[in-house]
Amino acid sequence: APTPPTHHSFSSVVRKKLMGYVGFANLPNQVHRKSVRKGFQFTAMVVGESGLGKSTLINTLFNTTLYPRKEPLPPHAERPQTVSIQSISADIEESGVRLRLTVVDTPGFGDFVNNDESWKPIVEDIESRFDAYLEQETRVNRQKIVDNRVHACLYFIQPTGHSLKQIDIEFMRRLHQRVNLIPVIAKADTMTDEEIIEFKQRILADIAQHNIQIFQAPIHENEDEETLTEIEEITTKIPFAVVGSDQVVLTPDGREVRGRAYPWGVIEVDNEDHCDFVKLRQMLIRTYMEELREHTNTYLYENWRSEKLTNMGIQQDPTVFKEVNPAQRVAEERGLHEQKLSKMEAEMKMVFQQKVQEKEAKLKQSEEELYARHREMRDALEKQRLELEDKKRRVESGRPLTPTHEKSSTKRNRFLRT
Ligand code: GDP
Repeated sequence: APTPPTHHSFSSVVRKKLMGYVGFANLPNQVHRKSVRKGFQFTAMVVGESGLGKSTLINTLFNTTLYPRKEPLPPHAERPQTVSIQSISADIEESGVRLRLTVVDTPGFGDFVNNDESWKPIVEDIESRFDAYLEQETRVNRQKIVDNRVHACLYFIQPTGHSLKQIDIEFMRRLHQRVNLIPVIAKADTMTDEEIIEFKQRILADIAQHNIQIFQAPIHENEDEETLTEIEEITTKIPFAVVGSDQVVLTPDGREVRGRAYPWGVIEVDNEDHCDFVKLRQMLIRTYMEELREHTNTYLYENWRSEKLTNMGIQQDPTVFKEVNPAQRVAEERGLHEQKLSKMEAEMKMVFQQKVQEKEAKLKQSEEELYARHREMRDALEKQRLELEDKKRRVESGRPLTPTHEKSSTKRNRFLRT
C-alpha cells in the first residue's frame, strides 16, 4: 500500500470501520466508478488556531475516531516554536467503496506570539506534495501514482462575531491559488442565529475585498432542477457555521443524537436547523469530493506546475499538459536551441543579402556611368568623322571651308538626330 510522504513529522495509516453512514458511497455513480478504478484517495487539510475544534470536526465528519483525543500540554512543557505538519491516513469503506482518507493537521498555526509567517510551512507542505506528484508523473513507469496532494483545506475561523483577523486574511491570500479553500466558522454553537448571519456577511465581504478565491461549487450545463437546488443550498451556507461532537447525547424528547448538551438544551450536529455541518459534509464528501479532486488536478496543480517550469526557463504550450518527462524536456530545450540557431542564421543571411544588394546597386551605377561615357565618346568620334568627311568633300570639290555659323547648324542636326 502507498505510504504518505515521509517528510512529515508524523504520519500513520490506520484501518477504520465506519460506525455509520458517511456518504461517499453516494457520489454520483459514474464519477465514483472512475474514482474507485483510480484508487480513491482524498486528502483534507485542517488549519486554525488550536482549540477551535478541528480534530473533533474531522471525527464527526467521518464518523470515526480518526483523531486521537489530544491531551493539552502541561503548563511547563516545552512548546514547539513552529507550525508542524502532521498527517494521518485511514482506509475507510462504505457500501463496498473504499477510500483512503488523509487528514493533514497543522498544529501551532496561530498559536505563537508572532504569527506573521504561520502560513509559510503550510504553503511549503502543499507545494512539496505537488512536487512529489510531479516527480511521479515524470517517471518512466508511472503506473502507480500516489496522490497525496491536498484536495481541500478547511480553514477554521474563530467565532468572534467581528470580522476576519489579519492572520486569517494573510493565510487565505497566500493559499488560495494552491488549495481549495473552504472557510468554516468554528464552534458555531457559541453564537446566536442572528450573530452567525451577520458574521457570515462580514467574512464574505472581507474575502471579496481581498480578492480571495474560495472553493466555488461548479455548475455544469444541463444541470437538473434538483441538483441546482442542492448547489444553491450549499453555496448560500458558505462559510459553513459548524458544530462538532463525538458524543452521543439524549434530547429532551428522548432521541439519541450526536451533539452537545447544554443546560438549556441540546445542539444536534446532524440537524440542519441547528448548524451547517450536514451541508459541509454533503459538499465535502458526497457532492463535491470528485470536483475538489478535479479542480486540484486541472487548475491548482497545473498552475503551480507551469509556474515552476516558467521559473526554470522552460516555455510551455498551454494546451500541452501532463506530458513532461525528462526526455521531452531535453527535446524541448534542444528545440529552443535550434530555433535560436536558425534565427541567427536567418539574420546573417539577411545582412549578407543586404550587402550584396548594395554592391550590386553600386556596380549597376558604375556600369551606367561607363555606358554613358562610352556613348559620349562614340558620339564625339562620330561627330569628328562627319566633320572630317565634310572637309574632305569640300577639299575635293574645291569649295572654301564652311563659315562658323554653318558649323552650328551641323551641331543642331546632331541634336535632332539623337
Ligand atoms: P483542535 O485543537 O482545533 O483540534 O480542537 P479540538 O477538536 O481538540 O477541540 C478543542 C475543545 O473544543 C474540546 O474540548 C472540544 O470538545 C471542544 N469543541 C470541539 N468542537 C466544538 C464545537 O463545535 N463547539 C463547542 N462549543 N466546543 C467544541
